[in-house]
Amino acid sequence: MKKYVYFFGNGKAEGRAEMKGLLGGKGANLAEMTNIKLPVPAGFTISTEVCTYYYANRKKYPKELASQVKAALRKVEAAMGGKLTDRKNPLLVSVRSGARASMPGMMDTILNLGLNDAVAESLIAKTGNARFVYDSYRRFVQMYGDVVLGLKPQHKDEIDPFEVIIEQKKQARGVHLDTELDANDMKDLVDLFKKAIKEKTGHSFPENSLDQLWGAIGAVFGSWNNERAIAYRKLYDIPESWGTAVNVQAMVFGNMGEDSGTGVAFTRDAATGEDTFYGEFLMNAQGEDVVAGIRTPLPIAELKEQNPKIYGQLDRIRHALEKHYRDMMDIEFTIQQGKLYMLQCRVGKRTAFAAIKIAVDMVDEKLISDREALMRVEPAQLNQLLRPVFDAREKEEAVRGGRLLAKGLNAGPGAATGRVVFNAPDAEEWAKRGEKVLLTRIETSPEDIKGMDAAVGILTARGGMTSHAALVARQVGKVCVAGCSVLQIDYATHTMHVNGRVINEGDWVSIDGTTGEVIEGKIATKPSEVLQVLVDRTLAPKDAPIYQEYAKLMKWADTYRRLKIRTNADQPDQARNAVAFGAEGIGLCRTEHMFFGEGKIGPMREMILADTEADRRAALAKLLPLQRADFEGIFEAMEGRPVTIRTIDPPLHEFLPHEEGAQRELAAQMGLSYEKVHQRVEGLHEFNPMLGFRGCRLGIIYPEITEMQSRAIFEAAANVLARGVKVEPEVMIPLVGHVKELADQEKIVRRVAAEVMKEKGVKFPYMVGTMIEIPRGAITADEVAKVAEFFSFGTNDLTQTTLGVSRDDAGRFLLPYVEREIYPKDPFESIDRPGVGALMKMAVEKGRAVRPKLKVGICGEHGGDPSSIEFCHEINQNYVSCSPFRVPIARLAAARAALADAPVRRPAGKRK
Ligand code: PEP
Ligand code: MG
Repeated sequence: MKKYVYFFGNGKAEGRAEMKGLLGGKGANLAEMTNIKLPVPAGFTISTEVCTYYYANRKKYPKELASQVKAALRKVEAAMGGKLTDRKNPLLVSVRSGARASMPGMMDTILNLGLNDAVAESLIAKTGNARFVYDSYRRFVQMYGDVVLGLKPQHKDEIDPFEVIIEQKKQARGVHLDTELDANDMKDLVDLFKKAIKEKTGHSFPENSLDQLWGAIGAVFGSWNNERAIAYRKLYDIPESWGTAVNVQAMVFGNMGEDSGTGVAFTRDAATGEDTFYGEFLMNAQGEDVVAGIRTPLPIAELKEQNPKIYGQLDRIRHALEKHYRDMMDIEFTIQQGKLYMLQCRVGKRTAFAAIKIAVDMVDEKLISDREALMRVEPAQLNQLLRPVFDAREKEEAVRGGRLLAKGLNAGPGAATGRVVFNAPDAEEWAKRGEKVLLTRIETSPEDIKGMDAAVGILTARGGMTSHAALVARQVGKVCVAGCSVLQIDYATHTMHVNGRVINEGDWVSIDGTTGEVIEGKIATKPSEVLQVLVDRTLAPKDAPIYQEYAKLMKWADTYRRLKIRTNADQPDQARNAVAFGAEGIGLCRTEHMFFGEGKIGPMREMILADTEADRRAALAKLLPLQRADFEGIFEAMEGRPVTIRTIDPPLHEFLPHEEGAQRELAAQMGLSYEKVHQRVEGLHEFNPMLGFRGCRLGIIYPEITEMQSRAIFEAAANVLARGVKVEPEVMIPLVGHVKELADQEKIVRRVAAEVMKEKGVKFPYMVGTMIEIPRGAITADEVAKVAEFFSFGTNDLTQTTLGVSRDDAGRFLLPYVEREIYPKDPFESIDRPGVGALMKMAVEKGRAVRPKLKVGICGEHGGDPSSIEFCHEINQNYVSCSPFRVPIARLAAARAALADAPVRRPAGKRK
């Protein structure tokens, strides 16, 4: 006979913790606690298979169920010394849902089941406490009437019909609180509730306890498919097919007098991870009193004073549970007339700080292995350690006080609070005066770099996760909320309208780049300890306990990961930060970002505006020493690690001023007429610049640009080598769709390399490779790999071109797309595996078919996204490259991908 019902009680259970699929989380843990001899009231679990059967068979149960429930009930009665239907010695039970994954409050529960008029009388005789009995009774009728018989508000504005009756009773009695109602009042309420149920639903409240039980079981299975549960399952990806189990358990009461009580606790501090008992309790109360907030619970430490015996017992249970489960647990307990009972335990939710501390501490305590520790920390949780965070209480108050203005994309994690300015020069100027500024723009462009750098945070109305603002913010470690489309920014008046409110220049606004929230006013922030050690170098590691935990975790990650981790950086300070975070090379140096540095934009503009090759070469000659110095700085900062440098990529007009004043200034500087400059800027206008004159197309039409850049790279390499620092440049050609484009540029690069080595009389290794960022490049990867020594996936452009979605304009519709589940996640944040991912996989396979040692990496923003990193591991890439501040996240994500893939210890490979 198939087993559907699992008994637990008297120190023995038919289930185990591992049986969550069958018994649900609650049922499996009740069984486990029983088996390890913790005091658990006896009960039984009806398996999730019954739920599945119920829905597959028009809400009928398997025929074996009734007899199995009966048998299990008999065992419970024997264990507890009472009987469900017995008037003299009644047993009351609770009936609760319990799915495989926790779905707090989404399904139904019934307590005090078994009560009827006769049982109530006999319970009063036993306890001598009529108020307690009738209060329990009326709560039961209320719950049963609501959950099983369906007497509940019919629309959202209606008050709960039972609450209406209670209110009327209180008015009639001239009291304000439920607690002021006496036993007779409660008894009246029972009758009034039953009458209301009959009148409004046509159903009579069942007096027979077994009828009550089956009604409750049916209601709990039914609640698996209520609206709330369905919505919750969608939100947390819980399959409908899992179903819920039903737990029927003997009731124990925390409200039987001053020697009774109830509480919840964590076996360690869920906020800090500290190894202390953390929780609260309330004497003479039921769990729902605590939840309803009618009375304020006391910290668990006070139980030690009030009842050292029970406290001692609980504390022993806390240690026993941690030892047994090897994790921090969340528990619920009840004390009934001086006797302790455990009602629930499950793995406790925790903050990122607690997750890391507990994982690291438990390895030290030999409770778990380092691999388990790595699997217990979500990579994204590291953000909380690496960024400034808001004072949690202040932020909560701000949101509760209605100061939440809007929500945008969480483009650069961390917390920033500053005064709003609407353009980059103002940001710089205000910052120089010592103001904290929040640069607020419709969107940003390379021209805004210095203002972005001066600001504490960046807020934009347009643009997606790979928009300029987002990727620069991440690269320099700025907090950023992008694509917040409800902001109506008016540059002319220096104001912004948002959901009916007006924000003026200079007003304080706070942004949470981890959640995308935009909040009016100032909120205090706290700096990251890890950053103070690694980046600011203002704190010694020995004085930084959080840093030490972080460092341990990172060390473990490095022993298991197979992917190398590089960084996207184009300034020596960014490179140094990245190395401090553990970067093993640079995967993308965007040379165009360098042209906005001191003294470079002038010659760059001259070059762009030149009419002839000779003029262009003259301007390039001015740029050469500047760019060479930049590369020297980068090579030195990277101390021999490989550096991938990309030749110029964006459309040229991005470098030119678009306002008349700035164009006049430039004209004067260059000795040209304003008209000439204006005309040239207009001439460079493109309808679709992302698909226009950019990438390798620039170097093909103007080979002298590639020539100059190659020379700057190789001369810098030779100079740095002469100073005793190893160099390994990798020159990368962007936006290649046809192998001939790459071959054209490769020829120039190799020629210049040979020239420089000859001139300088040195030799150094170097490589020429390409970005794979448009579909044709991926589809013809076997052709491209004949020339390319390495591939680096530019998944920003590859996503844009594969999906046909502009990375700069997607903000407006991608969020709704994700909400409607057209894409499961923003494809600019996390690789669209079936589309873009398929192209990547094909490119790796085709590329390695012709060049087995082809080195493959990724340098699009996805290189710092944990799920995308897992994918990169799966398709056998060699490395991922991400912004400096995401390097630790990538290290952990790569280790987890390796552990999930082949849970065997792999030694860390050579640095490459
Ligand atoms: C990319 O397209 O993914 C990339 C890294 O290049 P960029 O973002 O500079 O276009
Ligand atoms: Mg690109």
